[in-house]
Amino acid sequence: MDLPLRHNPDDCTACAICTVHCPVAGATLKFRGPRLTGPAYERFRLLGFGDDAALEYCSNCKNCDIACPSGVPVAAFTMLARAARSGKRKPPLGEYLTGYSGTLGELARFFPAFFLNFVLKNPLSRAVLDSMGLDRRAPLPSFAPLAQRRRLTKKRPGRHARQAVLFPGCFVRFYEPRVGLDLVRLLEKARYDVLVPKEFVCCGLPLVTAGLYGAALARARVNGRELARWADRGLPVITPCPSCALTLQQEYRDLFPEEEDLSRHGPVVSEACAFIRALIDDGELSLAGGRPPRELLAYHAPCHLRAMGGGRLAPDILSAVPGLRLKDTDAGCCGIAGSYGLKKGKYEIGMTIGADLFSALKGSGAGLALSECGTCRVQMTHGSGLPAAHPLSVLSACLP
Ligand code: SF4
Ligand code: SF4
Repeated sequence: MDLPLRHNPDDCTACAICTVHCPVAGATLKFRGPRLTGPAYERFRLLGFGDDAALEYCSNCKNCDIACPSGVPVAAFTMLARAARSGKRKPPLGEYLTGYSGTLGELARFFPAFFLNFVLKNPLSRAVLDSMGLDRRAPLPSFAPLAQRRRLTKKRPGRHARQAVLFPGCFVRFYEPRVGLDLVRLLEKARYDVLVPKEFVCCGLPLVTAGLYGAALARARVNGRELARWADRGLPVITPCPSCALTLQQEYRDLFPEEEDLSRHGPVVSEACAFIRALIDDGELSLAGGRPPRELLAYHAPCHLRAMGGGRLAPDILSAVPGLRLKDTDAGCCGIAGSYGLKKGKYEIGMTIGADLFSALKGSGAGLALSECGTCRVQMTHGSGLPAAHPLSVLSACLP
């Protein structure tokens, strides 16, 4: 399929700050870093040269975008170049498995969770998945019971004068619906009726990262139509997943620049902690009188949340709960970057990247790790042994 006009590589001043901040470039010599792989080699790609296998090592974590002082969408260069490469040579099977994780999660509703979790996690299945490109040592999330999944998406009776729309994201829908239910509880406490439309599909980010651009665009168009529907009604669309928020708010603009309709409704999307913070600031949600957890909490800010300009909202909100003790680890990327750290040849890189965070978590004395990103939570538990939760779950449990 045709790819959009690329971004202008001449916007890059070659300062190399992005390379200093790239976790993958710091963990392996196989990756040449964002400046070379992104804008510098783009000039050759525009002339029709280059089929750069090093492109496959970018995790799409966005730390280059965060660091770039010139506002270059560095990761988008790499993702679009990877998509062009995938058009010429088919990605490995593991990329299809992770790219279509949303579709696989939809199909999973036909089977009981305990059955799926057994089938996917026994050593024989892990050996088969390993041969398909998913490293047998990598942590796989467990499917949630079907009843919990249905409870999240069920229609709720209207009780309040205003409404909000929940975009749970694939991780919450399939693996941790209780995070979505915790967000529903917080929003209902602030007197919102919460709608969970069935029409939304996977945001498309796993497909983008897998190089499956056409499939990602198809999903973006479906979500774009849904965002337009809710924007026309003046309703906020709230997601507890930072990667979904980033994709719906900003990535559609950078990855599908010719689809103007897709970027028009990005502003209607809110990351959940930002929305909750605004409710607290406006006096519409109070945590006074709540019961804080007794253990120390250790927080990790996901890269995609920082890429949206957020990052420390959850600690700010939680520190307002009297008696709650929280330590911000501030130890960089966890290394999983969605599904990157699950793949063969990338698992070790992901674990090397996450080593500082794992040490910080182990040395924190905390009993519970916190992060807004579902796959970060999986990786944090894998690397440190600490259980992990979404900050919204702690907030919800604190409610008076
Ligand atoms: S997205 Fe992450 S891994 Fe990829 S080039 Fe940027 S900083 Fe490096
Ligand atoms: S930080 Fe931005 S301007 Fe500097 S080398 Fe990287 S892409 Fe170019």
